[in-house]
This record gives sequence, C-alpha cells and structure tokens, in this order.
Amino acid sequence: MRHRIAVVGGGPAGLTFARVLHRHGHPVTVLEREPGPDARPPGGTLDLHEGMGQLALEKAGLLAEFQELSRPEGQAMRILDTDGTVLRDWPARPDERANPEIDRGQLRDLLLGPLDVQWGRGVTRVVPGKDRDGVRVDFADGRQETFDLVIGADGAWSRTRSAVSPATPHYTGVTSVETSLDDVDTRHPDLARLIGDGSVAVYGVNRGLVAQRNSGGHVKVGAKFRAPLDWHTDLDLADVEVVRSSLLTLFDGWAAPVLDLLRRGTDFVHRPLYVLPVSHTWAHVPGVTLLGDAAHLMPPLGAGANLAMLEGAELAESLAAAGPDELDDAVRAFEERMWARAGKWAQITADGLERLVSPDPAEALAVFDEVQPA
Ligand SMILES: Cc1cc2nc3c(=O)[nH]c(=O)nc-3n(C[C@H](O)[C@H](O)[C@H](O)COP(=O)(O)OP(=O)(O)OC[C@H]3O[C@@H](n4cnc5c(N)ncnc54)[C@H](O)[C@@H]3O)c2cc1C
Repeated sequence: MRHRIAVVGGGPAGLTFARVLHRHGHPVTVLEREPGPDARPPGGTLDLHEGMGQLALEKAGLLAEFQELSRPEGQAMRILDTDGTVLRDWPARPDERANPEIDRGQLRDLLLGPLDVQWGRGVTRVVPGKDRDGVRVDFADGRQETFDLVIGADGAWSRTRSAVSPATPHYTGVTSVETSLDDVDTRHPDLARLIGDGSVAVYGVNRGLVAQRNSGGHVKVGAKFRAPLDWHTDLDLADVEVVRSSLLTLFDGWAAPVLDLLRRGTDFVHRPLYVLPVSHTWAHVPGVTLLGDAAHLMPPLGAGANLAMLEGAELAESLAAAGPDELDDAVRAFEERMWARAGKWAQITADGLERLVSPDPAEALAVFDEVQPA
C-alpha cells in the first residue's frame, strides 16, 4: 500500500491509528493543531477497558508498557450520600486488570513513540475530490495539501466532519465544572482519605460531584449539574472565587468534607457537555472518514477514548491488509462496524447521563450497582 494517508488530530484516536499503521510499515501523516505535545495540560485520567482501549494497545504492540504505567488501584470506587454517609465502597482488587487508569499525558507519550507528528498544523477544511483526484486539506496558515485518504480524528468540534455529514454537537442540558487538587496526600490528607485509591462520587437532585485520583497525588474534581447553557450569564467565569462561591451555593447543604473538594480546588474549567446524535451515520464519501469523538461524541462516561482507540487500531489494520484497489472497500466496511458499536455505546452513555444527573439520586446509585462487581 503506497497511498498518501493523513490523519487529522493527534488524540487517542489519531495516534492509535497512526501507531498501528506505522507498526505495519505504512507511512501516515499526522496533522495536529497544537504547537507541541505539552502545549496544553493533557487532562485527567482514562480507564482503558480490556476488550477496547487495551485491545487497541495490544494491536499497537504497547500492552506490556501500558501495564507498567497504568494504575489498577485507580478502579476503586466509593459512593457517598450528600450527608457524607458511605453508601457503597468497592476497593480495587490488586489483580484486577479490567479497567486500569492511565494519565492522558502518559498515554499520549506511549502512543507518540517513534511517530513524526506535524505539530501546529490546524486544519480548517477537508474537501473530497471528484473522480478520485485526491482529497484537499486546507490549513489555518493558508496552505493546502492533497491526500488519497483523510481520517478525521479531530474530536468534538471536528473540521473534517462537514466533508461527510452536516451533524453538529448539541448541548445535553448537563454542565461540568472541573477543578483540581495537587499533592493531595501531603497537602490534603483528609481529602486523600475521602477519595481513597480511585474515585469518590456523590449524587444529589440533578447534580453530582466526582473526585478522581490521577498519578502523582493529583486529583481532578468534576461538579456536574443540570442547567441552561447560559447559566453563568451573570458570572465572570475567569474569576476563580466567583465560580467557587456559585458552586458552593449550588451544592449548599452537602457534607462539609465533600464541599471541601470545591473549597480547596485551585482553578475552575467550565465544560458544558455536548453530544452528537445517537447513531450518527453518513453516506460514505470516498477518501474521507471519521474516528472517535469526531464520529460519535457522547457523554464522558468511560467509553469515548476506548472506542476512539479501538476504532483507530481496527481501521489501521484493515487498511494495512487491503490491496491497492481495496482501500475504499476497507473504509466502508470499517464504517459499518464502527457505527453499529458506537451507536450502542452512545445510547448507553446517554441513558447513563440521564440517570446519574437526575431528579432521583437513587437512580445514580442503581447505575453503579449494575456495573460494579457484586
Ligand atoms: C472529563 C472527561 C473524562 C473522560 N473520561 C474518559 C474515560 O475515563 N474513558 C474513556 O474512554 N473516555 C473518557 N472521556 C472521553 C474521551 O476523552 C474522548 O472520547 C477521547 O478523548 C476522544 O478521542 P479523540 O482522539 O477522538 O478526540 P480528542 O481527544 O478530542 O483529540 C482530538 C485531537 O485533534 C486535535 N484537533 C482538533 N481540531 C483540529 C484541527 N482542526 N486540526 C488539527 N488537529 C485538530 C486536538 O488538538 C486533539 O489533539 C472523557 C472525557 C472527558 C471530557
């Protein structure tokens, strides 16, 4: 196979795709908007499931390295009532390998390995060609390049997507405001005990608070609540104390140790949750396809990165196995498989979000009882 293949986006989907294709000896151009790997904080921890993200890493030849880096203890989960009573406590079993956690930055570095990513190459538009004369990629700096196949792995607000589909993400009605704590074991030992080795979650009426351990004593805290998109119109979101005080009002009456997660947070990031329609598909367009969030943005409930990576690995394997004239057939077959699997997960996570951030906190508990080991 000597086709010119480009992947737009160096997130979990794009890097896994590129790494597996590279493993099979095929060149691939990775076009990433960010100026370098450390240009922005990489975000929190990801749990990679055995038959999904971990399978993708196996296909990339990286499973053993992942097992060295990942934290099986991060699978521990504790649920509290809003008054601080422990409702459930699932410790992680040391031999449990189903969903270990890994920091996003560690995963990115693992996948990057020998890949030659083109940093600072923001794509503005992807234009499919007529009669197989190549797909044009327009860049933010005004340049253009042509490829035989362009894979859009450019996330929620994909610029590649409009080449195949008119769909755009819509607001779920749930907003997340995230904060973080550093050196939790030394600076906040009381909160370290509250969180345990993995995560602690508390659910009330139409809201929830989750604190999750990352490596190195770093903790990410997410406050989720139902609100109109413009809930913050009268607030200055750049003012940490203004956001903190509005969250403390929103979660008023919850146990003091739980609210300390917000009181001691260092910064606040506003993240309204958007999704693409469940079962988003499109009429196949020769030369262009999508992977990961670009194809099926869903609520952040532990599936998105796993699907993105598995799809990246599977598409790369299919292309590597395809004959010179079979590239388009391989992409078509891949799309059918991706749509079927992602559609199921989009429905599961949409239902999950409805139940987790719902008028009845017992529903949230039921969600965990259904997925945690007895
Ligand atoms: C708070 C939170 C927690 C989550 N936890 C989990 C979890 O535990 N497990 C799980 O499976 N999923 C989780 N997810 C979901 C997961 O983060 C996403 O599904 C996953 O990152 C999707 O990967 P991706 O590569 O498709 O897109 P992204 O991770 O969004 O990567 C897209 C890449 O494309 C680049 N890019 C964007 N636009 C352009 C452009 N125009 N030109 C060039 N490059 C561009 C971006 O800079 C980025 O590097 C979580 C999400 C959130 C928000």
